[in-house]
Amino acid sequence: MSFGRAMPPEPPSPDGSTSLTSRGGSVGGASPANRRMLRAFSFLRGWTFVIVFVGCCFLAGCLGPRARPGISPRPRRGEALPSARFLPPLKTAEVLSPFGWRHGHLHTGIDLRETQGGGDIVYASRAGRVVEVGTRRGYGRTVLLQHEDGYCTRYAHLRALTVRRGDRVKALQGIGIVGDTGDATTAHLHFEILTPRRRPIDPAPNLFKRQISGGDRQDAGRRVSSREH
Ligand SMILES: [Zn+2]
Repeated sequence: MSFGRAMPPEPPSPDGSTSLTSRGGSVGGASPANRRMLRAFSFLRGWTFVIVFVGCCFLAGCLGPRARPGISPRPRRGEALPSARFLPPLKTAEVLSPFGWRHGHLHTGIDLRETQGGGDIVYASRAGRVVEVGTRRGYGRTVLLQHEDGYCTRYAHLRALTVRRGDRVKALQGIGIVGDTGDATTAHLHFEILTPRRRPIDPAPNLFKRQISGGDRQDAGRRVSSREH
């Protein structure tokens, strides 16, 4: 009896045909090139889930709230970065409400609550020129400063203004007093940073890169009126 020399039967090909020896001497129904293609196909099939998952994430990112106009928290490609640092416009402040979508509306700035007990001075975040003072609908008494690189900062809901249009101000010079004018449920400062194209960006990363502490954000995301700036 011979046990060791028997060859296992060759598996039938899917179409039932017998396998042929190719020109290159391959046995088994597939040339080396075909095998490479099959291996590549199997590899791609294994990655299909990953590719679909990444594609869905990409689409969700494009279609999600971050892709809405004006929501980008930083200057876009082609927009110059600020040439100087923005400084906090209040001596001590808590972040009441962050930049972003709120009740279906874009909150174009950040809300800062005074913690000095009322009547706090609002300071210029950077040196600049007063290009707008007065009352804006919803914003109440407002100051808009333009800085030398074209960026602007807006200060809203002020109780009083201490500058006039055309004034030049230094960084951290007082420009007004915190109040609740306009649509404000409580006295606070609504602060905006606008790019040279007057597009709002998130002030928080510019203001608090170093200064903010964990406790400063504990009130972030509170419920506010849908009309409030
Ligand atoms: Zn606000």
